[in-house]
This record gives sequence, C-alpha cells and structure tokens, in this order.
Amino acid sequence: MKIPKEIKISGSTWKIKREKNPQLDGLVVSAVTYPVTRTIVICTSLTGEELVHTFFHEFNHAVMAELGMHNCNIVNEVEEIIVDNFARIYLQTFNMGLKCRTKKR
Ligand SMILES: [Zn+2]
Repeated sequence: MKIPKEIKISGSTWKIKREKNPQLDGLVVSAVTYPVTRTIVICTSLTGEELVHTFFHEFNHAVMAELGMHNCNIVNEVEEIIVDNFARIYLQTFNMGLKCRTKKR
C-alpha cells in the first residue's frame, strides 16, 4: 500500500509527512498525529507492514480527532489500545483482500 500525502476525513484535509526523527514531547517516536494542524508525521525508517500499520494507527487518531472524541474523556492509554487494534484489523482485512484477488486471477 502506498501511503498518501494527503487524505480527507469528514471533509477536512490531513497532510501525511515523512520525517527522519518525529518527536512528541521531546521524545523520538515512530509517528505522531497533530490534530490542530491536521498533520500526521511518520518516521522515514518505517517500511512495509510496519509502515502501513503505523499509518492506520495514526489515521485512527485523526478520525477520533475529527469526530471530537477528545470530548469523551477517553484516557490516552485507552485511545492507544483502540486505534492500534483497529489498525491491526484494517491491516488483516486489506491483506486478506489482496490475497483473495491474487488467487482469482
Ligand atoms: Zn497512537
């Protein structure tokens, strides 16, 4: 899967950037989502399944931001579990879809 440079979520444009060492609160992280600027930053070292999983993970943070989920008082640890498990399901589903299409051809 090619990671897009921009996506629209509920009509809002989000930019996806690749950086060498994304940071969050002074710590180097593999990826980070900035709701205020509607930007997702993903580390350039990520590739393959890890990259796609990380993209889906951050995409889910962006969706939650667009849905105003910050008003629901979900603690960060719970949001991380939710977005990561959804990302795993997307990855499994899309991989399965690709395999099915390949077998039919
Ligand atoms: Zn996260």
